Amino acid sequence: MPPGLNGHAGRADAASSKTSNHERVQVIDDEKQFTTELTSQIQHWGLRDVGFDYDIVAVFGSQSTGKSTLLNRLFGTSFDVMDEARRQQTTKGIWMCKGKDMNVMVMDVEGTDGRERGEDQDFERKSALFSLASSEVLLVNMWEHQVGLYNGANMGLLKTVFEVNLGIFGKSANQRTLLLFVIRDHTGHTPLANLQATLAADMQRLWDSISKPPELQDRQLSDYFDLDFATLPHKILVPEKFEAEIQQLRKRFSDKSRSDCVFKPAYHKGIPADGVAFYMEGVWEQVQSNKDLDLPTQQELLAQFRCDEIATAALSEFNEQAKPQRRPIEAGKVVDGLGGMMRAWRSGALTRYDRDASRYHKGVYKRKRDDLLAVLDSTLSPLFQGQLKNLAKQSLVAFKRDILNGLKGDSYDFAEIVGAARKKCEASFLEGAKEALVEDTDWSYEEDASLLSEEVQLVADQCRKDETKKMVNVIERNFKRQVAEPVEVYLGKAAPTMWDDILKTFKSTLAKAESSYLSKAQSFNCTEEENTTALASIRKRTWVVLRAKIDEQTSDTAFLTKLRSHFEERFRYDEAGVPRVWRPEDDIDGAFKKAKDETLDLIPRYSKIKPVDPANNYTIDSGSVDLASGDDEFDFASTLIIFTDIKAIDLSNRFRKDADAYYVEAKRSTVSSVAQ
Ligand code: GDP
Ligand code: MG
Repeated sequence: MPPGLNGHAGRADAASSKTSNHERVQVIDDEKQFTTELTSQIQHWGLRDVGFDYDIVAVFGSQSTGKSTLLNRLFGTSFDVMDEARRQQTTKGIWMCKGKDMNVMVMDVEGTDGRERGEDQDFERKSALFSLASSEVLLVNMWEHQVGLYNGANMGLLKTVFEVNLGIFGKSANQRTLLLFVIRDHTGHTPLANLQATLAADMQRLWDSISKPPELQDRQLSDYFDLDFATLPHKILVPEKFEAEIQQLRKRFSDKSRSDCVFKPAYHKGIPADGVAFYMEGVWEQVQSNKDLDLPTQQELLAQFRCDEIATAALSEFNEQAKPQRRPIEAGKVVDGLGGMMRAWRSGALTRYDRDASRYHKGVYKRKRDDLLAVLDSTLSPLFQGQLKNLAKQSLVAFKRDILNGLKGDSYDFAEIVGAARKKCEASFLEGAKEALVEDTDWSYEEDASLLSEEVQLVADQCRKDETKKMVNVIERNFKRQVAEPVEVYLGKAAPTMWDDILKTFKSTLAKAESSYLSKAQSFNCTEEENTTALASIRKRTWVVLRAKIDEQTSDTAFLTKLRSHFEERFRYDEAGVPRVWRPEDDIDGAFKKAKDETLDLIPRYSKIKPVDPANNYTIDSGSVDLASGDDEFDFASTLIIFTDIKAIDLSNRFRKDADAYYVEAKRSTVSSVAQ
């Protein structure tokens, strides 16, 4: 049987005790190694999340003075007790149990009696350091007959405790520890008061005897320790009394409402329960390597480690929450209520972090909180930016749709439609952007809002241009209708003032077209430049319309028909409009020549747009033509020519042939009438 498994009844069923609430953990084993299981054990005990709401107790005293027995009776723990029959050693090291029905971590030290063996004073000192760095109460266990033995083993231990304490807490005078002397096998012959006085005097002597660093020369025992005393009767001789007094003493540990409760806030070492394992391990490492135990550094290291752990846990939950929204945002969707969600995830993570981490070193806690916040915000920021981008896109699409819908009707006010759509678009963007904003960040949506305004303006401008084009087309169509008939009439009559009349009609119709454009353009908020362009376009296109009408009326066939009918009117009808019947004595040749010459005279009149009165001239200056459109070159001067000289000769030749035919027909008709 290994030494640790001697015949103590409490250990007989070690396997089942593993699962009970009284499980032990060997914090430091006989190889002086720190356990890897303390964290899980603390969690298993249900102490992990209690914050500062727990206490730690350790015990000192020579070997086999009933320390483990005392602890087991007081706290319901299951530390090894030496087997009376075999006097066998228990396993060396430091053990920990949780007090039954109380948030107390109890530490028991097992070791050979270093004083006697000489070999293990080192372990004794190290375990003293270790216990002091974390415990609120040190139970100093001794037999009644050891009281007053100033040179006994106990005094050596206590001297160690005092020295070690100066090393650890020397400068921080607000860190106190309770030394609770438990005097065992108290017979009652010497009252507690006397024992107490003896011990107190011994402690004072001991304190005075230890060597203190110069800066701590004046420090008193009472600056660091409170002393308290208790007695217990003989366990074997008066077991019932022993048990009854143990139960009384237990109340001082379990009932915090009692005024004589041993746990006072001033004794707490300020390590949150979830950090105890890491802290103790750090303390042990330093103790092991014989470094000065620098508790502030240990506490800061602990804070860094735990704050990181807590932040990581908070962050991973946060990431789980944020992750599902990343894809829709990247896919261009506007996620409804994103801002609310982001605020909830963010404050959730911070609340979790604050709850657990704020118990640690304030500076570290704050620094790590800033780090955490930076990571949270850097995760949320792309979501915010994406949401803004998607909002802007969505608002712009809605803007375009609203305008198109508005322009579907027959009568509408373009400027009003654009204005209302713009208002709606910008309002919906702002509403979404404000929702997505998270307070206490340097985020803003102003830039996106102004970019959206610019895009809206571009779309509005394009729509206005399209709308203006549409309007110019309508104006052109109306113009065409209005000038068609007068031009036909004037060109048909071929009066000497034909061009004057046509140009006057053109100008007055154009003036109407221009003013109709301007009156509408005003409500569109068209720019000066757009108006100039549109008017130039109107001027050019109406001129082209006029010219097309003239071309239609002066095509070869149409023109020859006109000449023919002109000639006929003069040759085949008399001045009264009565058809002529040619007689032989009639001057057919003279009449033919007159009619023909008069008709031929018309050809140059048609060949060029040239009013008689120069005031009726019309021109388009080439600069404005360039504005009108980029299409084929438009040379106004050339549009004044209806047909060229060569074309005029060709037309007159063709007309002559027609006229000759009339002449022959006239001649024939006289011959036939003579023949009758
Ligand atoms: P430890 O080595 O200080 O932890 O002492 P243990 O608790 O293992 O006890 C050592 C021996 O002392 C055991 O045989 C116990 O039965 C015995 N013992 C425990 N408590 C008392 C007590 O109050 N009085 C006496 N006389 N013996 C005790
Ligand atoms: Mg023991």
